[in-house]
Amino acid sequence: MRSQLFGLARDKLTTILFHRFFFAEEPDVRSLDRLKRQCEWLRRHFTALSLDAATDALQTGRLPNRPLLITIDDAKVELLRVADIFAEFELPIAIFACVGWCAKESPDQDSLLARLVNELEWYRGPVRTIKTRKGSITVGAGALETAKAVDLILADRDGSELEAVLAGIADSFSHPRISCSWSELAGLKASGVAIGGHSVSHVNLAAASQLRLEFEISETRRLLESKVGRSDSFAYPYGMSNTFSASTTSQLSKQGFRYAFLTHSDFASHRTNPLQIPRIAMPDRPMSKAEFQIRVAGAGVIYRKLKQSKFSLGRQ
Ligand SMILES: [Zn+2]
Repeated sequence: MRSQLFGLARDKLTTILFHRFFFAEEPDVRSLDRLKRQCEWLRRHFTALSLDAATDALQTGRLPNRPLLITIDDAKVELLRVADIFAEFELPIAIFACVGWCAKESPDQDSLLARLVNELEWYRGPVRTIKTRKGSITVGAGALETAKAVDLILADRDGSELEAVLAGIADSFSHPRISCSWSELAGLKASGVAIGGHSVSHVNLAAASQLRLEFEISETRRLLESKVGRSDSFAYPYGMSNTFSASTTSQLSKQGFRYAFLTHSDFASHRTNPLQIPRIAMPDRPMSKAEFQIRVAGAGVIYRKLKQSKFSLGRQ
């Protein structure tokens, strides 16, 4: 069973992706207990690598036996309750943070534009039109209008106006904490956790304008470097096949990112494009031990390949 379970991965890198660890339908103590059992199993069956060690090994092709990289997207605040568990099992983790969400938790002048773009992207209130120096922007009227509003702001980044526009749309209601703040991320980094970028506003980069694409990637890199330290790794928001393209990849490379992760289910090797590293995503719901194990072992990879071959056979 064990050799069959790992037959797929052999000497390739298995990168798993978590988003959440706690679920409304179950008590926290059960979620924590499950994570400990998952960590114990991973520790027993894999060679866990840090982000730097994993990317170095991919580059040189010198991967250890059953190499594993654990990644967590979105830097949700609940991470602070599970980071110790990974550390206890000596499993390094890499977190990909959406910098606009982190900036919202710890607002300052340096992140004003990132916060504004993030608020525009995630505005869910009634339709509103706001006058700016370069024309009016409309929020709450759909994705197209929102994209136009962000582009107009990015085309004319006058600091004196940004504050007023942000005040006009930011919700004044207190909201539950979602993302880690900069100091929380810096604390995680000091404890050995790797921190990479995940865009400014969690937008689909492949569908973004060139101006927005450049901003999302360059500002992610700038803010990360300024708040928690330089990183050359990125994870695409959403990460499926329609969320990256030749232009997103070339922009990442131009802005200094050397590695980028997807949610496309597969294992990685020396031959994998370093700006398109596949990951095995864990679903955002409680999982049985058996489901976790077969997912990590690559059940989703087989499923995806079967679906692809069925599709190509159907077209012949
Ligand atoms: Zn995400």
